[in-house]
Amino acid sequence: MKPYWEKLKDPRWQRKRLEVMQRDDFKCVWCKSDDSELHVHHGFYRRGAEPWEHDDGELWTLCRKCHDHATQLDECMRSVIGRMRPSQIYILFFIVAAFKRHIQKIDVDPADFGEWADAFDPFIQSLPQFESEIVNMLNKGRIN
Ligand SMILES: [Zn+2]
Repeated sequence: MKPYWEKLKDPRWQRKRLEVMQRDDFKCVWCKSDDSELHVHHGFYRRGAEPWEHDDGELWTLCRKCHDHATQLDECMRSVIGRMRPSQIYILFFIVAAFKRHIQKIDVDPADFGEWADAFDPFIQSLPQFESEIVNMLNKGRIN
């Protein structure tokens, strides 16, 4: 089996990488920089999948700085989740799914906390809707 760095030389990855960068207009999707070294970030790695076998929606063009930041955030998030009980992760999943649905409707500047606060308020307001879903799961004994 080829090491990962060698797989990134594969023409199938090179093509996929170019397609993602074209979709993202050759700009970092985080800081919008277009004058620095660009990387294509895997949002996650699907077990057994080659780097080029990931869906476009799992790949993001990032500058080196934002790619490093995204990788650190990913590791940090995994360490937080890794210390949670599986039942807590189950609940977190619903919160994240609700957040994903909410955030897809808006385009928030990550550097503008005022904008974030405005965007989060309706999300926080919508969370009680998910409470009954979570309580139902707990009552069915699906999580403990
Ligand atoms: Zn960037």
